[in-house]
Amino acid sequence: MLQGLDQYIAAHATGDIVIVLHQMGNHGPAYFKRYPEAFERFTPACHSNQLEDCSDMEIRNAYDNAILYTDWFLVQVIDFLQQHDQQFETAMYYTADHGESMGESGLYLHGLPWLLAPEAQKHVASLMWFGRNYRVDRAAMQQLASQPLSHDNYSHTVLGLLEVSSQIRDPGLDLVRHQAGQGAISHSNFLPRQLLQEVARPPVSGGIR
Ligand SMILES: [Zn+2]
Repeated sequence: MLQGLDQYIAAHATGDIVIVLHQMGNHGPAYFKRYPEAFERFTPACHSNQLEDCSDMEIRNAYDNAILYTDWFLVQVIDFLQQHDQQFETAMYYTADHGESMGESGLYLHGLPWLLAPEAQKHVASLMWFGRNYRVDRAAMQQLASQPLSHDNYSHTVLGLLEVSSQIRDPGLDLVRHQAGQGAISHSNFLPRQLLQEVARPPVSGGIR
């Protein structure tokens, strides 16, 4: 997914660049198709898109393998951005599209109407990372991590990251707390990097099934 981006950036060395990466993530029910074989660390894993053919543990293992792969992928994105840290103010904003039921109260998958949906489906994972030149108020942002946030924040935050002025942008929904002079945030604060590098060895081959 990151192939060719270096050339694109080299060809657009000035100005702002927005890169949108849309991965399949953990989208079910075929969790086993969301990760390459080398990432099947939790076993036995469900290898069917008919979840009723698998045990709870097999379903969870397949889901966790896909999470592991997304973690690894995000590390690749962050490493990629860090390579361009000298030249750009780099930042990453990752968000899932929904949470997922893993058998709690007999429910699986996602997509129940808001009024009926359990917390697991409404609790959406997201992650922000900033390069060393992108100065944010780290303490203020860490406080945000425990606040209830939603997809409503997303577009206003992205516009804010790009310093876009627009009447449709609500600064109150922008999650980024800027502060001049603030030091860098290392992504080792966010992700178990060493573990992920270990998991990523040997290099993945064969692509996604
Ligand atoms: Zn989805």
